[in-house]
Order: sequence, then C-alpha cells, then structure tokens
Amino acid sequence: MATDTDMVNKESLFDTLMATIGEPVFVTGHDGVIVRVSKMFDVATGFPAFKLVGQPVERLGDIAGQPFVASLVREALSAGGVRKGPMILQGHAAPWELTVEPVIENGRATGCVAILRPFVTGSHEQREGFDDLTGLPNRHLFVDRVEQTLHDAQRGNKLALIMLAGVDRFREVNDVLGEAAGNQILRDVTERLRPCVRTSDTLARLGGDQFAFVMQIAALDDSVLLTEKVLHALKQPFSLEDQKDVVITCSVGASIYPADGSSPEELIKNATVALYHAKQGGRDRCQFFSSEMNMRARHRLDVESSIRRALINREFLVYYQPKIDVNNRRVAGMEALVRWRDPERGLISPGEFIPVAEESGLIEQIGQWVLEETCAQNYRWQADGLPPVCASVNVSARQFRNRNFVSSVEDILARTGLEPRWLELEITESMLMGDIAAIVARMEDLRRLGVSLSIDDFGTGYSSLSYLSSFPVTTLKIDRAFIADVQSNSQTAEIARAIIGMSRGLNLEIVAEGAEEIEQVDFLREHGCDLVQGFYYSKALPAEEFAAMLRDGLPAL
Ligand code: C2E
Ligand code: MG
Ligand code: MG
Repeated sequence: MATDTDMVNKESLFDTLMATIGEPVFVTGHDGVIVRVSKMFDVATGFPAFKLVGQPVERLGDIAGQPFVASLVREALSAGGVRKGPMILQGHAAPWELTVEPVIENGRATGCVAILRPFVTGSHEQREGFDDLTGLPNRHLFVDRVEQTLHDAQRGNKLALIMLAGVDRFREVNDVLGEAAGNQILRDVTERLRPCVRTSDTLARLGGDQFAFVMQIAALDDSVLLTEKVLHALKQPFSLEDQKDVVITCSVGASIYPADGSSPEELIKNATVALYHAKQGGRDRCQFFSSEMNMRARHRLDVESSIRRALINREFLVYYQPKIDVNNRRVAGMEALVRWRDPERGLISPGEFIPVAEESGLIEQIGQWVLEETCAQNYRWQADGLPPVCASVNVSARQFRNRNFVSSVEDILARTGLEPRWLELEITESMLMGDIAAIVARMEDLRRLGVSLSIDDFGTGYSSLSYLSSFPVTTLKIDRAFIADVQSNSQTAEIARAIIGMSRGLNLEIVAEGAEEIEQVDFLREHGCDLVQGFYYSKALPAEEFAAMLRDGLPAL
C-alpha cells in the first residue's frame, strides 16, 4: 500500500517528467478530466493547455478546435483500448497523430495518456490512414472523422456538412498531360483546399481526384458559403512546367446531417450522388443532395452497364458521312461515326453515350472496334470495285495515349488488308498538350505506317495555327461552330477565311464541318475550301446507303 511519502514523491516525479519530457503528452483521469499536460504539448500545439488541468477533456478539444480529441479520449476510456486519430495543428503543414493509451488497473481504465507525434514520412505504420501523394487523411480515416463529427454534432444539436469535391475532367487531364502532371495538379489542389477548412474540420482525399470535407455547421446557410469557397479556391489557373496555364475547375456534391442521412456511409454516398449531378449539370458547380437524385445516378450506371452489354452483343454500328468536293460534287472521302442500336431504345447517337464511355474507359474498346470495322468495310468496298476513298476515324485521347496504339493500328490494317493511305485518324486539339515530344513521336510513327492525321473540331481548342505546324498532321477540320456563323457574323467569317488561307499556306488539306446551307457552301468554295462535310450534302448514312452513294454519286440537283 502506498504511503504519503510515496505519493508526494510520485506527484513531484510526475511534475518533473511533464516539464522535461520531449514529447507532447497529456494525461487524464478515469473521468476524462485533464490531470497533467507536458510542456512540449503546449509548445507543439501553440496553446496553453496546462491551464486546462482540472477541466474535462472536452474543453481541450474545443480550444484546440478539434472536438474529436475528446471523442478519442472518451472512447479509449470506455472501451479500454488504444485510440488514434490525426490532428492538424496550426502552423504545421503535415498532420500529427494523437495516440490515446488507456491506463488499465484491475481490468478498468483508470485514466489515459495521450501522446502527440508528427507522422514520419516514409514510415508506413505512421502514415497509415494518410494518402501518400497529398499527406491528407485517406478514406478510411475520413469515415472515422465523419463518425466523430456526427457524434459531436448530435450532442451539440448542430448540423454537419459533408462535401465531396471532384476535379473536373481529371481523367482527361491525366490522359492528355500525363500522370506526373496529374499528380502535381492533385498536390496543388490540396494546397488550394487546405485554407478552406478550419482546424476543427477535416479535409481528406478519398482516392483519384476526389477530395472530401466534413465539418460542423450551425445553420444551413453556412453550407452554401463553404461550398462557394471551395469552388472559388480552384478558379485561378494552375501553372505546370513547360505548359501554358491550365484552368482547372471542380464540382462539389454535398450532403447534410441529419437531413440526408445518419451514418457516415449514407452521407458520403449521397454526397457522391450529388457530385455526379454537379458534373452532369455542366461542372464547376455545387449540387446539394436530394432524394430524387438516386434515380438519376442509377440511370448513369444503367448506361454504363448497357454499354458493356452492347459491346458483347454487338449493338454498335458505323455510319458513314461523305466529304464532298464542292467543285465537282464528288465523294472525296468519308468519316466513320459510331451509332448504338439499343434493342429497346432504338438508334442512339454518340453524344449520348460517348461521354459515359470516356468516363468509364469503355471508349477504348468502342474506338478500336470502330477502327477495325471501318477498315474492313472500306477494304470490302474497294474489293467490290467501288471508287476508293479515304475513311476518317475518330480517336479518343485514351486510345491515342495507349502505348500499344500504333501497333494496334498496324495490326488492324494487316488483318483487314486495307492500304494505309485509305485511312485517316482524327484527333482533337486538346490531345496536343502535355509531353509534346512524345506526342509528335507517336504521330510520326503513325505517319510512317502511311496513315493520314487530321485535327478535328479545329478552332474550339487553344492551339494556334503556328503551333500546329510543329505536328505532322495532314488535314484540318474547321469546327462546325464557325461554319454555322459565317453568314451572320462577319468576325466569324473573318476567322474562317484566315484558317482556310493559313492552312493552305501550311499545305494542309482543309475540310469544313457542318455546312447546312447553300450560302455556307458558296462561301467556302469562294474562299478556297474545297472539301465539305455537312448536312447540305448528306447526313451520316448506313453502310449500304453510303455504298450506293459511292457507286452512283450524289443525287442530281
Ligand atoms: P465529330 O467527329 O466532329 O463528327 C461530326 C459530327 O457532326 C457528327 O455527329 C455529324 O453527324 C455532325 N454533323 C455533320 N454535318 C453536320 C451538319 O451539317 N449539321 C449538324 N448539326 N451536324 C453535322 P455525330 O455522329 O453525332 O458524332 C458526334 C461526335 O461523337 C463526333 O464529332 C465525335 O467527336 C464523336 N464520335 C463519333 N463517333 C466516334 C467514334 O467512333 N469514336 C470516338 N472517339 N468519337 C466518336
Ligand atoms: Mg470527327
Ligand atoms: Mg468534328
């Protein structure tokens, strides 16, 4: 049994220990009341916690702006087990970790010791719960934090806001600019988002381009301000090495406790659904969850799974739209355009499913199929004695980036027997950004095979004509937005004229997309653009109808 002397000695020993120990530590009794705080704790955290000796641990959580600290202590005490959680300290970029160790006597927790440690980079154990790339808490830890926040909100009769922020078109950015640039953007985004949270809130990275926030709020109105803040934080352009500034936007989905759910899982799921809607709604916006959304989210998943099914059941087909030489009305080429014949919904145009296919990665399979089908079809027409024409096939960024792309084109040509000069690949301006040397090398490999390359939708991206001259392309397709406006807008007409003139100077073939009126065709002819692909002459046609047009020419005027 302890004597009085023992007690006094222990107490002063304890005091000395707390004054000299090099680690930030505090100790509580079985009731969660703080009994000791080490000097280093105050140094590390920057607030005078020693003044809280004798007060419940909740006071410490409140003052530190980290209410979950109290939850960790309470849980360690009641469960009699170790509890850990990350703590973001003002003035420290990297997170710290608080480990709460209960003191067990006779099977009961009689108090606990809480130790704060910076997590050591490289030590896997310490970093558990954190994302390697950004140093933010990961999904697992985030769920814990949501749990703690909900608990605190419930006790304080407050609300909690869960926000998910996704970087718009991140997959495209990653595909086009490369993974290193993608990672840099994620780190930059992290630094932009950090100031959006108070120390009591949590910012986490759930994976990919998805960031998550959880915070207590007093009123619904606060949530609007907070979501605005997040959207605004990313608006300034990002600078990447060797690259023009890249403008990145994000979309935000939000759910609110208790209205939109009572468990972390439910709230995160509903915020995800809302995020998806924000992206569908045009991106760069925030969407709050509403229950009817679940139905639309399900719809998107439906589309994705029916695309998978369509690939298996061969529901895709290719239509062909002629390119006409305006001087003699001859079919000078054609573009292959994919269609989907859904057994229930009928013919679906690419605008409806290409975006979903791109998001899910299914575009690669669809694109390769279109390429093979078009080459095989073009070969058959030539074998049947029809006038040979070049077939243009759209290539998506993902296909082009795939390191096997060039060899797959070579294989397809060999398999189908089509001579390479009868194939043209259409790529878009946005694919010409990133590692320019690698892109040029890939294009040169394709040119060496003997296929042509064109830039689709020219004028909608950022590239200038002089920039284009560094790429080995053969053809330019002026976007239909310019053609539609040539009569009504003199400025547009001026741009169209300039594009035509300069591409002739660069020795590029030029095709005008989307001419619908005779006046537009006349304008193009007048200014030296000989090739037109547009409804004025013909829509995209099923294979048999296009074959008939190849054989018989355009119907007489
Ligand atoms: P795009 O490559 O720019 O193809 C031209 C689009 O403009 C086609 O739409 C065509 O039908 C339409 N068009 C042509 N002339 C006119 C006109 O005079 N007026 C109007 N209003 N439209 C005209 P479509 O077939 O719906 O394809 C849309 C887009 O889907 C294509 O734009 C292309 O980006 C994409 N796409 C189509 N097939 C494929 C494919 O096999 N792979 C990939 N990656 N994308 C594809
Ligand atoms: Mg095209
Ligand atoms: Mg186009």
